[in-house]
Amino acid sequence: MSIVSGILENVTEVARRAGASRLCQVNLRIGVMREVVPEAMDLAWEVLCEEDPLTDGCKLTVEDVYPESVCNACGERFTHDRFHLRCPVCGSADTRLIHGRELDIISIEVEHPDEPSQP
Ligand SMILES: [Zn+2]
Repeated sequence: MSIVSGILENVTEVARRAGASRLCQVNLRIGVMREVVPEAMDLAWEVLCEEDPLTDGCKLTVEDVYPESVCNACGERFTHDRFHLRCPVCGSADTRLIHGRELDIISIEVEHPDEPSQP
């Protein structure tokens, strides 16, 4: 819930500054290491969006970012799931996560008061 309200605060501010009358869609990229539950996120999003006419009915799309790490022992760069952080080449557990904890707002789509609404 706090993640969602943080994002929402951010995008509504951007939309207001851009003079938008309505926020239509928000596109996010979230690393799977954050362990965000999509259903919980969607629900929180819906509830919070209803509170403001600017965001009422706003859609949310989320692109998953899969984890990627670099091995500090041999320099191998590898992708993995949430639980397998060991280097596949040398077996070292001394690895550094470079992707998978992102929480980025990629883009937002807004409507302006003087524009006809999009179909
Ligand atoms: Zn290694």
